[in-house]
Amino acid sequence: METRKQEKQNLSLFICPICRRPLEYDAHSYRCRSGHCYDIAREGYVNLLPVNQRHSDMPGDDRAMVNARTGFLDGGWYEPLRERLCMLTKELAPEKAILLDAGCGEGYYTGALSRILSEKAGRAAGIDLSKSAVRRAAKRCPDAEIAVASVYHMPLTERSADILINCFSPLAAEEFTRVLKPGGFFLYVVPDRKHLWEMKEILYDAPYENSPSDGSYAGFRQIGAVPLEFRMRLQKQEDIMDLFQMTPYAWKTPKSGRDRLAEFRELTVTAQFRILVFQREGRNDSGQFSSQ
Ligand SMILES: [Zn+2]
Repeated sequence: METRKQEKQNLSLFICPICRRPLEYDAHSYRCRSGHCYDIAREGYVNLLPVNQRHSDMPGDDRAMVNARTGFLDGGWYEPLRERLCMLTKELAPEKAILLDAGCGEGYYTGALSRILSEKAGRAAGIDLSKSAVRRAAKRCPDAEIAVASVYHMPLTERSADILINCFSPLAAEEFTRVLKPGGFFLYVVPDRKHLWEMKEILYDAPYENSPSDGSYAGFRQIGAVPLEFRMRLQKQEDIMDLFQMTPYAWKTPKSGRDRLAEFRELTVTAQFRILVFQREGRNDSGQFSSQ
């Protein structure tokens, strides 16, 4: 299989986290002209977290959460969301576009998006703080560059990305403004009011709706909000608990709620998202966008 790892010396989409100079990579490592070197792990990712930020035990999502999410996503339950993201990207990405998935997790969306990009002679990269997630992302996305890095200090140069994706990950609006080209697009996936409502009704005595996440962010203009709703007929307890594990409710649900949910053998749950579409202000504002 011809992948990036067999190619010779290539200019990376990432920059050196220490000196901020361009990185080149070969089959084994990434290097900058100042002599900093980052080994490529067996799975194909590179760790670009500054050494002083690597000490914490398990930054980002832990392995149990990553396993649950992988199991659920591999079941294809969020396929409609991935398809919609791909459609939007196809519509918005210029030829030779650079796409960054900021908080790429195990690369479920990144892999499909990178295929869209390669159809347009573009390239994709993904970063995530969780090494367990990045390991899987690198395997899943042989055509994308994948790194362990923080979305708050992204190893990318100013104005280098045409499209930025954020799918249920921490929002670092200022950093996103820095790396996006003027006129570039930011797709922000957020849960809508009734997302996973049926599950919340089981977990909580008095469930509440999500508050809408339409925010305004300096440097961005919102040009669309694409609603997406579908039902998932979960017919295995494992799928139900995997979905639970990948939500924030896993942290804050009282044991009684979790026990109630664990008794369900099947459950029909509504998935309800909005994909907020922002455009980076500045030159090339086009606002061309039809999928409202
Ligand atoms: Zn360097």
